[in-house]
Amino acid sequence: MEARPYITCRELIDFLYLYLEGELAPSRAAEFERHLGVCKSCVNYIETYKKAIVLGKHAFQDSEAPASACAPDELVRAVRDSWKKSKL
Ligand SMILES: [Zn+2]
Repeated sequence: MEARPYITCRELIDFLYLYLEGELAPSRAAEFERHLGVCKSCVNYIETYKKAIVLGKHAFQDSEAPASACAPDELVRAVRDSWKKSKL
């Protein structure tokens, strides 16, 4: 059994962009995957995030709408919440 604590959901979300870009250090990426193995809400969050990126790319090909008009409200709120929490 692993004795080390899992990273928190907040840490995961803070580094999500780097993780998805493949720019996270291998040891950090391993911690991400360990957390995702036990945390379904983060798995769901990442799925939503990936879909939003795909939708965003499509939108940019078709129009010049600002990014905020393309992102699902739920995701925008989740990202704002994580910013707010990280400033506390
Ligand atoms: Zn989590």
